[in-house]
Amino acid sequence: MSYDTDNVFAKILRNELPSKRVYEDEHALAFHDINPATPVHILVIPKGEYVDYDHFLENASAEEIVGFFKAVRHVAREMGVNEDGYRLVTNKGERAGQIVFHFHVHIFGGRPLGGMIKRVKEE
Ligand code: AMP
Repeated sequence: MSYDTDNVFAKILRNELPSKRVYEDEHALAFHDINPATPVHILVIPKGEYVDYDHFLENASAEEIVGFFKAVRHVAREMGVNEDGYRLVTNKGERAGQIVFHFHVHIFGGRPLGGMIKRVKEE
């Protein structure tokens, strides 16, 4: 899939759409999810044009990759969830539930998160 420069997060990066930003550095931008699933629900995105996790790891420089994941760690600590624990999620592809095709990591925290993914018989 090629990168669509009109995706929602590209517009947020260009300040064409508003967002509640919590952190920014040369590699990453972090902001509140517009429809939070947990008390802390932050999205962290790289500044480069990457569609998903696979595309990011294939094409980003080592410096971008390390910078990005250090930013994720920094934001989790800044949001106060490091002590109690948090969950990182990235959806890769439509089947996994990806709806915005600019690579992003969700940080979920602020309450007990329970088990991970429902087993088929529970759905
Ligand atoms: P995913 O399903 O992993 O692609 O997640 C996309 C996330 O982006 C969802 O949790 C949405 O609630 C969130 N989202 C969509 N539009 C916006 C927006 N304008 N600002 C902040 N979060 C958004």
